[in-house]
Amino acid sequence: MAQTEANIASLIQPHLSQLTPYQAGKPLEELARELGLTNAVKLASNENPLGPSPRALAAIQTELANLHRYPDSHAYYLREDLSRHLGIKPEQVILGNGSDEILDLLVRTLVSPGDEVISSAHTFLMYGLLTRAAGGVFRPVPLKDLHLDLAAVARAVTPKTKLILLNNPNNPTGTVFSRADWEGFLAALPPTVTVVLDEAYIEFVDDPDVPQGVAYLAEDRLLVGLRTFSKAYGLAGLRIGYGYGPSKLLDFLNRLRLPFNVNRLAQVGARAALRDQEFLNRTLEVVRQGREFLCRELSRLGLSYVPTQANFILIRVGRPGQEVYQGMLREGVIIRAMDAYEFPDCIRVNVGLPSPYHHHRRPGRGRQEHRGQGSGQGLGLPLSG
Ligand SMILES: *Cc1c(COP(=O)(O)O)cnc(C)c1O
Repeated sequence: MAQTEANIASLIQPHLSQLTPYQAGKPLEELARELGLTNAVKLASNENPLGPSPRALAAIQTELANLHRYPDSHAYYLREDLSRHLGIKPEQVILGNGSDEILDLLVRTLVSPGDEVISSAHTFLMYGLLTRAAGGVFRPVPLKDLHLDLAAVARAVTPKTKLILLNNPNNPTGTVFSRADWEGFLAALPPTVTVVLDEAYIEFVDDPDVPQGVAYLAEDRLLVGLRTFSKAYGLAGLRIGYGYGPSKLLDFLNRLRLPFNVNRLAQVGARAALRDQEFLNRTLEVVRQGREFLCRELSRLGLSYVPTQANFILIRVGRPGQEVYQGMLREGVIIRAMDAYEFPDCIRVNVGLPSPYHHHRRPGRGRQEHRGQGSGQGLGLPLSG
């Protein structure tokens, strides 16, 4: 019997039928396939424009000879390194195939069907998606002046709340919350609610008043911090991130975690990248200068944007962000329209490398010296990634 879509839909778990897949930034390879653009610039996924850490690349090269062996499922050496890096115990560290995987483990460990997960509106799309995948009820709290409203998040807690997911700096606004707000928030919570502090962009923060979750780590507090090698360390393609939290809670996550979830190349690459302070410093410098450049030029163009502490910036374009996205695609620049984040008149652009002109060429067009400010959809952003 031929299976129709309706047939199959009737067989899957009911709460999964409404899920929509995560929309990732458009891969460069896809743009090359579709438009024949081979030198396009991607500023859509907050990746590191400098490429991977050179030390990580060298370590990965050496490790290639061991690919016939399974990796260390507990990533002993990397967890040792990370525990030293953070000043905590190795059993307070868990590794994932991207920090996304740890988020998934947290939700699946803690959220039963019908339980509530509180987060903010206009935040990382994975939070709602993973909650719904687990049968949980996702409750986004509105932003206040484009900032996470921690007091309102604390007030939203009910007896059904199992998990609170916070992102600092927040993707896609780039805004941060302060130490005082964070401490007030922690003090207001019942001890049965687990707080996840996603610090995917914490390395880029300049503001000294931003709390680092690891300073609040305690065995008797249900707080888990998440960090990643995908952004500041330039290893998004390797898929590796980590969490830190009370070992007793991580124990349960480890029961659900698939063995060998972090591969050999990722383990050695991450260890080397963690030691590559020079690369990290260079990255932070590029991001700081790029942020300043973008803010200056956006002001000059009369476009409003949200002051950012991350490696990306949210820009109001005064028309559907999709239009600007499509227009920039044709120019060989991939950015992100923000309708999925419920900012339909905004785009998000990450910091790239400084360059007077894009280096790509389009068929039938020469160098693009004429491209300047206000040149149609291009926004005149002289950046390349
Ligand atoms: C990029 C990002 C991550 C990191 O994801 P990985 O799975 O580690 O690549 C996590 N949280 C947010 C908010 C992000 O933007």
